[in-house]
Amino acid sequence: MHVLITGGAGFIGSHLAEALLARGDSVAVLDDLSTGNFEHIAHLRPNPAFSFAIESVRNALVLDRLASEADAIVHLAAAVGVQLVVEKPTETIETNVLGTDAVLKAARRYRCRTLIASTSEVYGKSAEIPFHEEGDLLLGPSSRSRWGYAASKLLDEFLGLAAHREFGLPVTITRFFNTVGPRQTGRYGMVVPRFVRQGLTGAPLTVYGDGQQSRCFCHVADVVQALLSLLDKPESTAGQIYNIGSNRETSINQLAQLVIDHTDSASRIEYLAYSEAYAPGFEDMRRRVPDIRKIHDAIGWTPTHTLEEILDSVIEYERRRLGNGERGTGIG
Ligand code: UDP
Repeated sequence: MHVLITGGAGFIGSHLAEALLARGDSVAVLDDLSTGNFEHIAHLRPNPAFSFAIESVRNALVLDRLASEADAIVHLAAAVGVQLVVEKPTETIETNVLGTDAVLKAARRYRCRTLIASTSEVYGKSAEIPFHEEGDLLLGPSSRSRWGYAASKLLDEFLGLAAHREFGLPVTITRFFNTVGPRQTGRYGMVVPRFVRQGLTGAPLTVYGDGQQSRCFCHVADVVQALLSLLDKPESTAGQIYNIGSNRETSINQLAQLVIDHTDSASRIEYLAYSEAYAPGFEDMRRRVPDIRKIHDAIGWTPTHTLEEILDSVIEYERRRLGNGERGTGIG
């Protein structure tokens, strides 16, 4: 199978590219390197089954050519990270909505199997824990930039599902929960690489709010396995939405302590108000837990990596980067 990965130089995309090549598929990556990093895919260049284009997903000509060669498209290119979303709301909405629109139009032209990445952000402030794919979505007011991200990804979902219903395109929507692992950058707000960097450099671990908010962290290798299986099952999974994530809940306080323990760090924990960390009026989710029965029933998937394994893999990766001379500012 020839797979086009938009956002393929990103964190999840580069791991997916490696896994597809390892099982004998060929891969084209389309990435404008806005948040992706060429280093993540540079080692794949000698492989004749691998190609890339550094270009925006919104370049219709390039997208058309790449889609015409592809059996499947995994659309991961998006504005990501809470910090970026709050700082650049216009770019976030345009990248997400216009990017997905462009991908779906190209996919329709060549009848590509298509996976569209969405996010647990779409559940918003829902208190119906665990979040089920058919549950109601509860977004905050449009005066808060954060919700623009959720709304843009939700529109992506509607566009994808509409392409399936109206034109029979085999589209599947994946709602990613907190995905972590080597290569994730902390530059745009992701908590695990930030804490690990802080722990390794002896800087204080910056916990936002009271630290009692919780998340479920899933290893990127598990997420990639789910994507591979979904790609292979268009008949049973087209037109469907699937949560992909771990359902082991960890508070941010617990996470900070685990990082300190696993990095053998003398760092202390420092509490920062949300208004200082993001913007005044920022709203955070207290809990975010996926119901993962649907994807388990569809493809037999469950996450296999523990949080401790995840942290050790991130710590090893960040240690190597720091050893290579990168300066540890705490925001890797
Ligand atoms: N967080 C934190 N310190 C940081 C970065 C994030 O305490 O340096 C918190 C953040 O407020 C949230 C949780 O960690 O409650 C997860 O944040 P992340 O940005 O990784 O993911 P998301 O908010 O999208 O779940």
